[in-house]
Amino acid sequence: MDFSLSPDLAALRHEIRSFMDERVLPKENDVIREDAAGQDGTLKQLQQVARKAGLFVPHLPAEYGGRGLGILGMCTLFREMGRSPVGARVFNCDAPDQGNMDLLLQKASPALRERWLGPLARGEMTSAFCMTEPAPGAGADPSNLRTRAVKDGSVWRIDGHKWYSTGGGRASFLIVMARTSEDARTGASLFIVERNAPGVTHVRDIKTLGPDLLAHREAEFRFEGARVPEEALLGEVGEGFLLAQARLIPARLTHCMRWLGLADRTLELCKAYLTSRLSFGKLLAQHQAMQAMLFDGASAVHAGNLMTWHCAWLLAQGRTKEARPYASIAKTHVARTLCKVLDDAIQMHGGLGYSEDMPFALWYRSARAARIADGPDEVHLGVVARDYLTGKLPLLV
Ligand SMILES: Cc1cc2nc3c(=O)[nH]c(=O)nc-3n(C[C@H](O)[C@H](O)[C@H](O)COP(=O)(O)OP(=O)(O)OC[C@H]3O[C@@H](n4cnc5c(N)ncnc54)[C@H](O)[C@@H]3O)c2cc1C
Repeated sequence: MDFSLSPDLAALRHEIRSFMDERVLPKENDVIREDAAGQDGTLKQLQQVARKAGLFVPHLPAEYGGRGLGILGMCTLFREMGRSPVGARVFNCDAPDQGNMDLLLQKASPALRERWLGPLARGEMTSAFCMTEPAPGAGADPSNLRTRAVKDGSVWRIDGHKWYSTGGGRASFLIVMARTSEDARTGASLFIVERNAPGVTHVRDIKTLGPDLLAHREAEFRFEGARVPEEALLGEVGEGFLLAQARLIPARLTHCMRWLGLADRTLELCKAYLTSRLSFGKLLAQHQAMQAMLFDGASAVHAGNLMTWHCAWLLAQGRTKEARPYASIAKTHVARTLCKVLDDAIQMHGGLGYSEDMPFALWYRSARAARIADGPDEVHLGVVARDYLTGKLPLLV
């Protein structure tokens, strides 16, 4: 195995790290404060600088302003961006837009790409992905899908109820999963629905444990006779479950990359405190209990990084089916790691860690969702155990 980066990728990583350190981290609090007040001046300025530096949407092909990085390159860069909760948005690589861009790139017709992918890639609009429904509809088990799309002449009529559509309230368009037949495998299809189309009601942004930040506001929608043209179908009729799975596997990995970056930064902040705070006659960093927490954090982050790389390596070779349980392992491990590292960081910083003078409490509130969104831990655990028990999980590369 060769873990070295190509000279180009190493240089790009250095550029992103410098951009993060010199431009994004000093403005992080401004972006967060402005966002809470419904403004985005600083974010837009940073995006403009990133665009000029050729660092915007690096995951997309050159025709959309990117660098055609591929998933292995994304592993390297997204981790750097993830060091701040606003970093990925500065480079237009945040969820859910980044996963939606990839899906549109692969499955949208040229007309749909021109209408939606172009503006999305340029950062002129945002999007949402609407799969989850309140009980008894689709949740951890997508086969509970209740939203329906019925063909009515040359249009589809959509009726249903969705929630937890991240970023939906501000999005220009939604990618909506709806039932188009009763078949267990081919019963769902994906549609691009304009967010302000007649029949689409944004009921509310749900108040959650997580702070409202940038696109990370969870919307609830009702669809009542929403009409979408035939051309708004993404892929083929009946491909909905397949496409959602194809979107979710790399999307889970890109979450891992960003979460690993935030865990890295958390450990960096711990290092600064432990190496400066004296307690019982020595630095905190010299106390074994503190070293044990650092060890746990550093080794879990390293393991998560290797898992993410390995799964990305499978995807880069088109081995998507094989990659699925490895994506489940990586996503579960990294989500738990981020929560644990943040919890330990609070402990290592004592009262300071618990206060809002440090960012851990804010970050933890967002991080907790990682163990639920894109499939709760228990579902991933079931997938991995099933594949292991039936011999479908070769544990070595
Ligand atoms: C912050 C956030 C953002 C999200 N963004 C989006 C989005 O943009 N688009 C979207 O479509 N969805 C989104 N979701 C929804 C998310 O994907 C679902 O919450 C998740 O799939 C679980 O579904 P559910 O909430 O309906 O839980 P349920 O299906 O009701 O499950 C509840 C709990 O039961 C347990 N459980 C479920 N199945 C099993 C099983 N097989 N074995 C053992 N235990 C099980 C788990 O502990 C699970 O947490 C988001 C969620 C969060 C929290």
